[in-house]
Amino acid sequence: MRKSDPVSIWDITAAETEPNQTSAVGGKVDVAIVGGGFTGLSTALHCAEKGLSCHVIEANHIGFGGSGRNVGLVNAAAWLPPQDILKILGEDYGNRFINRFSSAPEYVFSLIEKHQIQCNPTRTGTIHAADGPDGLDDLIARKAAWDRLGEPVDLLSRDEAASHIGSTAFYGALLDHRAGTINPMGYCRGLARAALAAGALISTGTTVKELKHEAGLWQVVTNKGALMARHVILGTNAYTDELWPGLKHSFTMIHYFQLATSRMSDRIKHILPYRQGLWDTGKIMLSLRRDHTDRLIIGSMGHLMGSHHGGVSYRWAQKQLDRIFPDLGPVMFDEAWNGQIAMTPDHLPYIYKLADNLFTPIGFNGRGITTGTVFGQALAGLLTGDCATTLPIPVSTMRRVRSAPVMSRFYKLAFAANQWIKSF
Ligand SMILES: Cc1cc2nc3c(=O)[nH]c(=O)nc-3n(C[C@H](O)[C@H](O)[C@H](O)COP(=O)(O)OP(=O)(O)OC[C@H]3O[C@@H](n4cnc5c(N)ncnc54)[C@H](O)[C@@H]3O)c2cc1C
Repeated sequence: MRKSDPVSIWDITAAETEPNQTSAVGGKVDVAIVGGGFTGLSTALHCAEKGLSCHVIEANHIGFGGSGRNVGLVNAAAWLPPQDILKILGEDYGNRFINRFSSAPEYVFSLIEKHQIQCNPTRTGTIHAADGPDGLDDLIARKAAWDRLGEPVDLLSRDEAASHIGSTAFYGALLDHRAGTINPMGYCRGLARAALAAGALISTGTTVKELKHEAGLWQVVTNKGALMARHVILGTNAYTDELWPGLKHSFTMIHYFQLATSRMSDRIKHILPYRQGLWDTGKIMLSLRRDHTDRLIIGSMGHLMGSHHGGVSYRWAQKQLDRIFPDLGPVMFDEAWNGQIAMTPDHLPYIYKLADNLFTPIGFNGRGITTGTVFGQALAGLLTGDCATTLPIPVSTMRRVRSAPVMSRFYKLAFAANQWIKSF
């Protein structure tokens, strides 16, 4: 049994338990997968279902990375509005990407249903709330683009937004009916259970130290032995270490912190009454959820500063809840945590081909539940003969983001200053 501290409230509240089997490392498989998050586990599940032998190797435990720490918003499409995606990817890939990711929440919920994953799914949509007049203009433009594509996204007036959120703090909102929420750790553990049932092997507490290409096979060297694989998928994303030279510098790493209140039952029944997850249009985004245990979970970009007992993040969270819900009064927090997010310069996710038979989906820009699931499915297709042109995004070669280390430091300082200023 795992002895490490919980990485998030989801680690504690997920009804889906952590699979307790861990395989010895050795032998030969079709696919070795590094990382036990949504990407690695979805790849394993889909590969195993297609008859490939596969082995997931995770340095810590299932859901240790972003997958067990996130907000749990099962968002449709991408961080960027559809018109921007078309501009970057062009008509062909742009439309394919938009279609695949518009239906991606549906696919995630279908896996939850198929494998009976206990992760408290809600399918009442998500709310993108305007934090000011500029934010509302942005939402109006997004609504027009979704209307052109015939997608079920509503623009809520200020009053309508207030009744959905339980607060008059927002100027209006988009209600995206395609989306929903989950307990992300529950989903991640459920994917692991389903992958194991389909025949995949999983080793936790095992770090991949080196990848060597020999006679058409990859030797995957770990701290607990080595195995041979025809293909390797790196599902390490924002938790990428030094394993593949330069990969860490292909994205800008930012942090996102969250605090979960204690259970509040009737006291918050007017807040997010339909339990949609919310994020706002602020440049330094804020997120808010009321989960199935009637906790409020509030977060924003940046490191956790302090703990759930006190400190800058604690004061920030109290202050924001006061601002948004002036009648709520002081609250107690049960958990506080943060996680790492991989941002790309154009805010699109990538699938890089790093070498022969070695791929990595990376840079999900805070949209990993659907992206990791869909990319895992797409890679399983690629490895079993699908043409690369059927992928949701073209496979490309790794691009180093020269400004990444500087930008990461800049964001760290800017987010810390923002948190500190807003904590008074
Ligand atoms: C705080 C936060 C909030 C977010 N909110 C949302 C949200 O609401 N909705 C959404 O869709 N997305 C959200 N995201 C993004 C989403 O969580 C990530 O995009 C997603 O989890 C990435 O999944 P992954 O499987 O690719 O990587 P991860 O889940 O990060 O897993 C990578 C794993 O690789 C392992 N690893 C790294 N190196 C090695 C090695 N050498 N050997 C073995 N193992 C290794 C790590 O231990 C880690 O477990 C959020 C992210 C954060 C951090």
